[in-house]
Amino acid sequence: MSRYDSRSSDPSSYRDRRSDTGFGGSSGYGSSVRSSSSKSEHNSAEPPRKLDLDGLTPFEKNFFVESSSVAAMSQREVEEYRQQREITVEGRDVPKPVKSFRDMGFPDYVMQEITKAGFVEPTAIQSQGWPMALKGRDLIGIAETGSGKTLAYLLPAIVHVNAQPFLAPGDGPIVLVLAPTRELAVQIQQEATKFGASSRIKSTCIYGGVPKGPQVRDLQKGVEIVIATPGRLIDMLESHNTNLRRVTYLVLDEADRMLDMGFEPQIRKIVSQIRPDRQTLYWSATWPKEVEQLARQFLYNPYKVIIGSQDLKANHAIRQHVDIVSESQKYNKLVKLLEDIMDGSRILIFMDTKKGCDQITRQLRMDGWPALSIHGDKSQAERDWVLSEFKAGKSPIMTATDVAARGLAFLCLIGWLPHISQPVQ
Ligand code: ADP
Ligand code: MG
Repeated sequence: MSRYDSRSSDPSSYRDRRSDTGFGGSSGYGSSVRSSSSKSEHNSAEPPRKLDLDGLTPFEKNFFVESSSVAAMSQREVEEYRQQREITVEGRDVPKPVKSFRDMGFPDYVMQEITKAGFVEPTAIQSQGWPMALKGRDLIGIAETGSGKTLAYLLPAIVHVNAQPFLAPGDGPIVLVLAPTRELAVQIQQEATKFGASSRIKSTCIYGGVPKGPQVRDLQKGVEIVIATPGRLIDMLESHNTNLRRVTYLVLDEADRMLDMGFEPQIRKIVSQIRPDRQTLYWSATWPKEVEQLARQFLYNPYKVIIGSQDLKANHAIRQHVDIVSESQKYNKLVKLLEDIMDGSRILIFMDTKKGCDQITRQLRMDGWPALSIHGDKSQAERDWVLSEFKAGKSPIMTATDVAARGLAFLCLIGWLPHISQPVQ
């Protein structure tokens, strides 16, 4: 017997939430829930799954219905619209973007909240992310901060929850949102409450640094949406205050930070407790290549949607010059550049390796340039000293590995350094 098919494998314990909420009436999703054609279209688009579902109860995750006005858009119109809103898509069978909220056929109570909030049209990430998410496929969504990513995953989450059987006593959440910080988790819950309240969907926030009692009580009452930071969630799982057997919609918000800043083992632990045929969605403002590699381990046949430039961190006010030179020309080119631009202002030089960093610094110093280096093999005391020399202008040239670049970018933010451009790869 699999660990998933305990109580919830008994279909008689299910009640269909849709009949209680009126969901599925004019909204259009109800028909897709029952429609076998949308399901087979979805399946034919994918290679056969090799997931070991071990007797897991099937669940519905494809709620995609294309409105007639979206269906009427020609491929050319679709491309023009994407271009105009700077939408780039990757993946197979990408649905067309939606231009208006009406095209989504969200439940009435969601539409009412959208109207109340005064939103005029979907943001770019919503316009492409919604239909993708509603198809039940995995997704990587990249768009700058403030672009409406929270609702891009929460509204499809509400649709998803509404189509699932009610929670039975002892069931954990259906939607799990992982977030790197307590502040973000709280913000997300505020949106979830606002847009999900009138559908009787309950949500709670699970984060560390506060007493567990109230959180445990919420979990035990049964909540459809849990928004959690990884550490406290693991704590709750280990103490059997909740479980992830019912999770079928998993979100990683600020996924870049989650994966890049050491949460990976915790995420792995959490994900291993969730059924493999879940829908997984990543949202982030930045998406470095290293993160993509890590991220793909947890995804299956994902869509990717990017709004704006892929390199969202680059500051467009900074002019970047790219010179491609051979290895043997590099040092001379560097010295020539320094001779041209050295005017007492500070200069940062990024290198690939720590060894290269040390070598070039030594060479520069031998040639009379006031250079010091900073990288991961230096002690904290030495790094502090080098930074203070650089800051004071006593050593106006600093070399660094690009691993140090993130830290240095942080120094720019807090005003230590004037802004620097991204290292040119
Ligand atoms: P992100 O997660 O991308 O940084 P948020 O989801 O926090 O952005 O959204 C930023 C703000 O935009 C929020 O106040 C949110 O309510 C608002 N917002 C979301 N969708 C829309 C929309 N379609 N039109 C106008 N404002 C929106
Ligand atoms: Mg956000």
